[in-house]
Amino acid sequence: EAREALATWEGPGRLNDGLAVKLLANVADGESARAAAGGPVEGVGLFRTELCFLNRSEEPTVDEQTDIYSGVLEAFGRTEPGDGGAGDRYVVVRTLDAGSDKPVAYATLPGEENPALGVRGLRLALGNPGLMERQLDAVAAAAERTGTETWVMAPMVATVAEARDFASAVHGRGLRAGVMVEVPSAALLAHRMLEVVDFLSIGTNDLTQYAMAADRMATDLAHLTDPWQPAVLQLIAITAEAGIQAGKPVGVCGEAAADPLLACALIGMGITSLSMAPAAVRAVGARLASVSSQDCEEAAEAALAASDPAAGRAAVLEVLGG
Ligand code: PEP
Ligand code: MG
Repeated sequence: EAREALATWEGPGRLNDGLAVKLLANVADGESARAAAGGPVEGVGLFRTELCFLNRSEEPTVDEQTDIYSGVLEAFGRTEPGDGGAGDRYVVVRTLDAGSDKPVAYATLPGEENPALGVRGLRLALGNPGLMERQLDAVAAAAERTGTETWVMAPMVATVAEARDFASAVHGRGLRAGVMVEVPSAALLAHRMLEVVDFLSIGTNDLTQYAMAADRMATDLAHLTDPWQPAVLQLIAITAEAGIQAGKPVGVCGEAAADPLLACALIGMGITSLSMAPAAVRAVGARLASVSSQDCEEAAEAALAASDPAAGRAAVLEVLGG
């Protein structure tokens, strides 16, 4: 039966009682965005811009960046009403997340002792504000050129002040502003982050790494870098609840969104969108289409109450059925 659902599910994301769930793609460039646009997604929830520049020794000009970003935005341009309900597609562009596991030669500081805890993501803008300003100019120009609904978010945000400064730079260019929740401090203050931004997007890969103090690249720590860890789920639940209270979207764009069982629990916590590698969308969409809002709420409770990841998976499987 599950295989049949997988074969027939065509999107858009919906529970069996009609609750809409935005299913979005994680992309790296124009080519991956065009490939994703052929599938059952309603947009891009994470465009990892740094992946376009990993091999560059010099910062691309604003014009070159505009061309690259336009290539992604074009793939999800506005569509006419009545052509299948995809009229409100959007693309979330993430500003440069350079540093740590993704060094970018022209942006990253050399010789940091502890790069995962160092000057990475939005923190780079503190020492080099022009870098972010030029990128935002390019994103705004690409949004203007393509007419695509464009949201912009910053990675590695730790304080409300950072979120406020970023949001004012983005709002100054007429775009929707959000921040990623990847640091536990941001999850704990999600309600205050939402006073200054339009949306949040939880990066469970880094949120897990920082909540569990376990390097996401360390294979021998995989038991800790597991988003089913109850402490991680608690941080996600706090963030989702803040979104409900504020009436603003809170998505998940880390690997956790691609796990069909966990996806149900995330929706039960109040998460409004799930962004993932395009190859994962069908399995997640088909699973969501087989459950109700109440099933998801029970799955969330079961996962949060479990003592460890294995118990959480078993409890959710018990609630939702195999
Ligand atoms: C994350 O940290 O979960 C995330 C989506 O960002 P990245 O994997 O690019 O660090
Ligand atoms: Mg991250």
